[in-house]
Amino acid sequence: MNYRHHFHAGNFADVVKHVLLLGLLDSLRRKDTPFCYIDTHAGIGIYDLGASAAQRTLEFKTGLSRIKAADATGMPALVNDYQKAVTALQAERGGFWYPGSPWLALQAMRPQDRAVLMELHPEDAGTLRQFFSRRDNTSIHERNAYEGLAALIPPKEKRGLVLIDPPYEEERDDYAPVVELLKKAHSKWPTGMYAIWFPIKDHHAITRFYRRLRNTGIPKILTTELCVLPPDNQLGLNGTGMIIVNPPWQFAETALDILKWLKPVLSEHAQSSYKVEWLNGEAAPVKKVPVDKFAE
Ligand code: SAM
Repeated sequence: MNYRHHFHAGNFADVVKHVLLLGLLDSLRRKDTPFCYIDTHAGIGIYDLGASAAQRTLEFKTGLSRIKAADATGMPALVNDYQKAVTALQAERGGFWYPGSPWLALQAMRPQDRAVLMELHPEDAGTLRQFFSRRDNTSIHERNAYEGLAALIPPKEKRGLVLIDPPYEEERDDYAPVVELLKKAHSKWPTGMYAIWFPIKDHHAITRFYRRLRNTGIPKILTTELCVLPPDNQLGLNGTGMIIVNPPWQFAETALDILKWLKPVLSEHAQSSYKVEWLNGEAAPVKKVPVDKFAE
């Protein structure tokens, strides 16, 4: 386990993931009945972008800094909420901090809701505990997501969201372990909402990943992608994706609006692109968007 999220916090992939996450959490808050949020790969929860790890890579300049500098015209409500969340955390801690998925979820929770955070790296699990163990209705597990998730679901609340956000050290190539994890989890809790983040580095790998997902037979799988570079560029992280199983009603359209607005903010590349598509279970295509140019 070499991956440490501190080096990557606030990059373009984090921005897209966290804006979409806020949308999913928002949908859960529309009913008064309690929900359970499960973060299988929680990281440390909040990140000091002034500290040496983030300052060494400056990856937040590909994401958070671009959002801050953007013209807010037409900004989708969820991007605005995301900005407000960052500002709230920075006001709370006094400094250049970035909210990870656990912090965003805990902010969205009401007294009746509950969070379960899993993190395998002992040091990161310790830091996560330091930040959040005093929060109500929050349990932190130093645990391997691949055995822990199935043991923790279905939650007693019967409604909620599982965020699966691995570092893709073991899961590279065709992301098969992630699909197996989803299959196992879905068989235990078919009505849960699942959001799976994935990197876009090689588009053949994504095709194989989607084929595996289709072959699970799980209905209602939505995929969202935003590529800041052409998807088969050899340089590294070309794009960011999120699979959503059992998405909220009209989330596909919401995601499409968000990605359309974010694309020119996060990339000037002529071949940057975005898409939202059903992989399984929906006859009607989401308004499909081809690779298009920066100037729209
Ligand atoms: N979800 C976080 C966020 O959005 O703020 C970022 C998580 S980071 C991409 C992935 C985390 O998973 C790392 O902190 C890593 O230590 C942890 N991890 C790696 N393998 C794991 C496993 N098998 N089970 C649980 N956590 C794991």
